[in-house]
Amino acid sequence: MAHKTDIEIAREAKKKPIQEIGAKLGIPAEHLLPFGHDKAKVSDAFIKSLSDRPDGKLILVTAINPTPAGEGKTTTTVGLGDGLNAIGKKAAICIREASLGPCFGMKGGAAGGGYAQVVPMEDMNLHFTGDFHAITSAHNLLSAMIDNHIYWGNELGIDQRRVTWRRVMDMNDRALRQIVTSLGGVANGFPAEGGFDITVASEVMAILCLATDLKDLQRRLGDIIVAYRRDRSPVYARDLKADGAMTVLLAQAMQPNLVQTLENNPAFVHGGPFANIAHGCNSVIATRTALKLADYVVTEAGFGADLGAEKFMNIKCRKAGLAPDAVVIVATVRALKMNGGVARADLGAENVAAVRKGCANLGRHIENVKQFGVPAVVAINHFVTDTEAEIEAVKAYVAEQGSEAILCTHWANGSAGIADLARRVVELAESGAAQFAPLYPDDMPLFEKIETIAKRIYRADEVLADKKIRDQLRAWEEAGYGNLPICMAKTQYSFSTDPNLRGAPTGHSVPVREVRLSAGAGFVVVICGEIMTMPGLPRHPAAETIRFNEEGFVEGLF
Ligand code: ADP
Ligand code: MG
Repeated sequence: MAHKTDIEIAREAKKKPIQEIGAKLGIPAEHLLPFGHDKAKVSDAFIKSLSDRPDGKLILVTAINPTPAGEGKTTTTVGLGDGLNAIGKKAAICIREASLGPCFGMKGGAAGGGYAQVVPMEDMNLHFTGDFHAITSAHNLLSAMIDNHIYWGNELGIDQRRVTWRRVMDMNDRALRQIVTSLGGVANGFPAEGGFDITVASEVMAILCLATDLKDLQRRLGDIIVAYRRDRSPVYARDLKADGAMTVLLAQAMQPNLVQTLENNPAFVHGGPFANIAHGCNSVIATRTALKLADYVVTEAGFGADLGAEKFMNIKCRKAGLAPDAVVIVATVRALKMNGGVARADLGAENVAAVRKGCANLGRHIENVKQFGVPAVVAINHFVTDTEAEIEAVKAYVAEQGSEAILCTHWANGSAGIADLARRVVELAESGAAQFAPLYPDDMPLFEKIETIAKRIYRADEVLADKKIRDQLRAWEEAGYGNLPICMAKTQYSFSTDPNLRGAPTGHSVPVREVRLSAGAGFVVVICGEIMTMPGLPRHPAAETIRFNEEGFVEGLF
């Protein structure tokens, strides 16, 4: 039997008016700002009125190291939200918005899959409520104001060779990575090298996702370092008087978006920072709002737990004062097989030995999550090709680690397929077992923070960084940035910096290539290996197959 595609399933959804979804969480209709009938923003005033309420339990969904075989973190996040509601709990989910880059580049959306999706998925994967366009505009306003300032005499003494602020757009376009601006004569300004990043890599995106309210947003935008002077002193967005207008442009984008799952449960979809150059999870304001309104909030962090969960804990939770009560680590038999050395083409054949070998990767993620003081449970996201023996191998391995792996069939069966996990998550969250603590204290020197992550999470022997990098970190400490957390940028495919080193490698080194200060977002980005801030399109981009069919429905989004 051929399976329905994600978009076919989504099209059959029996959506309820968004006011009914808001009512489930006690949001009065006048505090929902509707975008059509099935999407709404939650009003600023309503969010402010919640501050004295107690928080629900926070559940993080993370995963083993990703492989091309796919893990299904979003699918499991959505499924677990529905599963919790189905067993009678008041639960909401919090996920990221989609970027047009991957939607039109590599096949794959951000709304979940199978019978665990949020809808309207076409909107969510396209323009949605316009947040990313607002972020693009705010970012580029600042870019324009920098060049304009230089054009009109450069009172601030910006060293034109040291402008670090680039431009952004929400599309994969490698032609714009490195460009020359202001060609064409005196009236167009001073020619300079520039370039575009994808919007999700913008520091404005990271800021919007970490800001607690509009005031905090403006303060952080003002703190952005856009350039340096000849004496290497920083020039801030505030110096250009850009922070006020940027905040005005972003005010509506700061309000979380409410949509629904296929089972009509509430889902906040808000923000979407890159998981490499930024921290890779949905907005603080959406998560906090959800925690005030629901007893259980299920949220997702990008990539594997070594990157996504680490940054969720050490950046988002630390900065926002959040504390997860339980963690779900998603694993699939297919991805474990790949971690165990099986090639993609051979994934169809049963291979218990490879599953068992690949489990080393899962085992390390379980240990790592426990280091943050949060109890973990493993969700086996079931694929129809999985065999009984392979599933049993995963369960047995996880049991040996003193944890539990639960088979989940939400992709095929919706909430009915994930009730066991939902019940176990409730038990863990209510057990009071969580004693959340970030991995390192604020006042640890920056280089030691990097070493702590490399040794305790990646299990590397050492961090390699030349004098220039160490001097830079010390200079930032002297300038008052020493208390910032670290935002690691490394390959998502391995614990190490070598994407081909699957499983649970040890004995490796972590070479630091570059460090960047995101003073507005409030972290130091540590770049290990290549980092892509403007992706390119593949040979056959998904855009080639996206179209309206005869009935007027969008095809090819997935
Ligand atoms: P992640 O959040 O980890 O990147 P997603 O949840 O977005 O992954 O899923 C990626 C793709 O894999 C989606 O198209 C989804 O439909 C598919 N998928 C997820 N789980 C399953 C499953 N159990 N069986 C088949 N396809 C799945
Ligand atoms: Mg996802």
